[in-house]
Amino acid sequence: MSDIGPYHSPGSPEYAEATASFQLAVPVEPAGAVTARSVGEVVAAVAAARRAGRPVRVSTTGHAMGRAAPLTGALLLRPLIDAPVRVDPQARTARVPAGRTWGEVLPELVRHGLTAVHGSSPTVGVIGYLLGGGISFYGRRFGLAANSVRSLTVVLADGSVVEASATEQPELFWALRGGGGGFGVVVEAEITLVPMHRIMTGMAVWDAAEAHRLAPVWQEWTRTAPPEITTSLRILSLPPDPHLPPFLAGRRVLFLDGAVTATTEADLPAARRIVDGLLAPLTALAEPVADTWAPAPPEALPHTHMDPPQPVPFRSTSGLITELDAAGWAKVLDAGPHLLAIELRQLGGAFAEPGADGGALDRFAAPLMYYAVGVAGEDTARDVVAVRSAFEPYLTGLTAPNFVESYEQPQRTYADEVHARVERIRRDTDPTGLFAGDVAPVRA
Ligand SMILES: Cc1cc2nc3c(=O)[nH]c(=O)nc-3n(C[C@H](O)[C@H](O)[C@H](O)COP(=O)(O)OP(=O)(O)OC[C@H]3O[C@@H](n4cnc5c(N)ncnc54)[C@H](O)[C@@H]3O)c2cc1C
Repeated sequence: MSDIGPYHSPGSPEYAEATASFQLAVPVEPAGAVTARSVGEVVAAVAAARRAGRPVRVSTTGHAMGRAAPLTGALLLRPLIDAPVRVDPQARTARVPAGRTWGEVLPELVRHGLTAVHGSSPTVGVIGYLLGGGISFYGRRFGLAANSVRSLTVVLADGSVVEASATEQPELFWALRGGGGGFGVVVEAEITLVPMHRIMTGMAVWDAAEAHRLAPVWQEWTRTAPPEITTSLRILSLPPDPHLPPFLAGRRVLFLDGAVTATTEADLPAARRIVDGLLAPLTALAEPVADTWAPAPPEALPHTHMDPPQPVPFRSTSGLITELDAAGWAKVLDAGPHLLAIELRQLGGAFAEPGADGGALDRFAAPLMYYAVGVAGEDTARDVVAVRSAFEPYLTGLTAPNFVESYEQPQRTYADEVHARVERIRRDTDPTGLFAGDVAPVRA
């Protein structure tokens, strides 16, 4: 494959490294693949693809492998830029090179008493997460993570390297944040950080049989919950894994986790009271089998949700929803017996507020998001359909791009006029469609 320069052919160790993916259920079989370790290498790889007349696909961790079309015939570019994370503690900003995961970046931030509006998993890539909106356990306080982006440095299809911000290339900057990809290769993101002294985090766990009584009470609580807290309520069906605590291994449970921000030491007593306000009405109805909610350092947060640390084959469904009524709870809580998780993520608060200089996706109006996931296989495929149908009456028609994990899943991020503006900017930025395969399709 000498005509495509730095891209490596299937079978080589370099190809294997560049195509490594967290999502094992989706084949990763591009025509060639390369790991680019500098901006210069990204520029050279984009130029080589242009010369070869082949489309370029960008992947960092492969968490979302399968969200866009299959890679057949394309060249895969994995940007793992070999540069440090640069934190400016006074300005409360960080410049994060492409390729870093939140687990790698967080230690650099917390030693300055700062953190980012990061997600639940340490293995998720920073850039992919930010471009897809970014739903954080800090989100009801600070909004979608895409709103914390100050600038993005991008290698475009013509090989130019541009910085997109509110003042430079503002249209591109707007479209990059939530626009669904296909604009170029982001090589660095500058983000705003937030001060964080401690958090209250943990899990409260009940037998799943209690879910019918407790879940509506949690939903009732979400209506008046303060923005300092963001939670997730899940039905988890866990394997009999000896590494899990006995109250989880091999059990089907109701699992309530999340975080409360305590920006300064003085905020901690109020944060404790917020957790008490969450748990009191639930524990009054049913004694939990475990309750680990407690003060913790901010770096503990990516472990609260117990996302899988290693690559897995998974299949999921998701959507932004309205509140459930009694009939909805009855259907949803017993659906999907083979799935690992059926989750309701609490939105509202700052999730619903527009970002200052917000991008194509800067808020969610819906109060809740559902997400259901299982190990890929026939049972899971059936259950995914069943769970989606249980949520059907409550779907808003909109989806959170970061939680769309299959090309087949109906998805829609925004209104038609926003979509039209994104498409126009994409055409202006990449007129030959070099990155067009990377676009997650909007198929309302
Ligand atoms: C276990 C798990 C936990 C998760 N938790 C959360 C969560 O709490 N909150 C949340 O919002 N999301 C969460 N997600 C979803 C995750 O944020 C998205 O899948 C996100 O797109 C992953 O980005 P990535 O770079 O890691 O993945 P990739 O699959 O590598 O990238 C996804 C897409 O992002 C784009 N992209 C990535 N890097 C670049 C780049 N440098 N330049 C241009 N485009 C790029 C590409 O279009 C690519 O197709 C989770 C996913 C998993 C599997």
